[in-house]
Amino acid sequence: MAWRILVFSLSQVLGLLLGWWYGGAWGAAVGGALAGWCWFAADLGRGLRVLRWFRHGDLDALPQPMHGLWGQALDRVRRLLRAQQLQIQERESQLDDIFAALQASPNGLVLLDSEGHIEWCNQIACAHFGFDAERDRMQLLGNLVRDPDFTAYLASKDYAHGVVLQGRSSTPSRPVRLSVHIYPHGQGRKLMLSRDITALEQAEAMRRDFVANVSHEIRTPLTVLTGFVETLQTLKLSPEENERYLALMAQQAMRMQNVVQGLLTLSRLEDSPWPGKGEWVSVQRLLEQCADEGRALSQLLTRNQPQHHTMVFPLPAPAEGLGEIAGIQSELLSALSNLVANAVRYTPASGSITVRWRWLDDGGAVFSVQDTGPGIDPKHVPRLTERFYRVDHSRSRETGGTGLGLSIVKHVLQRHDAVLEIDSKPGRGSTFSVHFPASRVRKPHNALAMPTPGAG
Ligand code: ADP
Repeated sequence: MAWRILVFSLSQVLGLLLGWWYGGAWGAAVGGALAGWCWFAADLGRGLRVLRWFRHGDLDALPQPMHGLWGQALDRVRRLLRAQQLQIQERESQLDDIFAALQASPNGLVLLDSEGHIEWCNQIACAHFGFDAERDRMQLLGNLVRDPDFTAYLASKDYAHGVVLQGRSSTPSRPVRLSVHIYPHGQGRKLMLSRDITALEQAEAMRRDFVANVSHEIRTPLTVLTGFVETLQTLKLSPEENERYLALMAQQAMRMQNVVQGLLTLSRLEDSPWPGKGEWVSVQRLLEQCADEGRALSQLLTRNQPQHHTMVFPLPAPAEGLGEIAGIQSELLSALSNLVANAVRYTPASGSITVRWRWLDDGGAVFSVQDTGPGIDPKHVPRLTERFYRVDHSRSRETGGTGLGLSIVKHVLQRHDAVLEIDSKPGRGSTFSVHFPASRVRKPHNALAMPTPGAG
């Protein structure tokens, strides 16, 4: 302010002096008035520049530095604007962080305005509903999601519960199920949350199937057993009939026991720690045990038949053995002998079963069981390792099967990083092969080259 008065006074004095020198008293009066007008014009010019800058407020295009009142006003506004700009930048970066966190959500999120327009959605929501985050911004949600259930849900305005829809990418072979829930907030705004519940629904369906299967597997022999008990209680039977009935009852009881045993094995496998790679199991020993068990089972199943299975094992093994597998002996034996037992159970007495052990070029090894049995239709193959899945129900039951064998095999192999491969053609027999990776097997110490397995 002082500067302003000083400049004005100086211009007045200068105008008066110049006017006096030029024209005496009249000259001084005109000179003073002219100086006053000049000062006013210059001040107005500065004021207009400041006003012009106020209009666009661009911090990078400040007017030339100014002194005095206009300079101070300019400086104050500039500082205010700078502080405001910093605050906006901070808010924007906070908002970016929030959107990045929403983007990272495993669920789909859609923000809707009070009229139901999409204000923002994350990538998961785009995948669930087939949105394009940019293109569909401010589009009406109801126009983009046309599922009748969702339309009814949206129109009901009752958002206490969610609704379940088919996902955009759903196909009959790969269904995708979404749970969608709208949460109103603020002044009529809404947040829509979508969750992929396909796996959850599948697990729930599997659990229901499992309970139904277990009940069925136990109930059938139990009904038969109860029938026999009633017969024994009510009828007078001859000693031979009595014996026959008791034998049949024992068979049903054994069937139930096998199912329970299989289920316990599966649950033990699921609960027990992953097999380490510190314990090495002899392949030769495993094959010997498989051969003993397979031959015993074959004798039992074909005892009343004129022919017996031809069984071929890679034994006797070379002096240095066949190598070793890293894992748990009891589990490996149960898996490998299960495959041999299945081959024996499903192959007619006249057929043959060949067990092989061979090394692969990548250092891995394959255990395989080939049979000349009935073979399996390709449509059943992907489901064979499901619990209680059977192709031939009567043969399975006749030979004491539970439908859990291959499921146990799959679990054991998974725990040993091995993979089961099934190659089968109806009427042409089956080959069940177990591929062990190089990290799980080692060759015998002195073996320069492993011989191809021969007949035993
Ligand atoms: P199960 O106790 O019924 O044998 P598994 O899980 O061991 O149950 O096998 C599932 C089904 O796969 C069997 O019911 C049978 O129909 C079929 N299967 C398994 N191994 C063979 C095989 N070697 N030849 C033909 N079918 C087989």
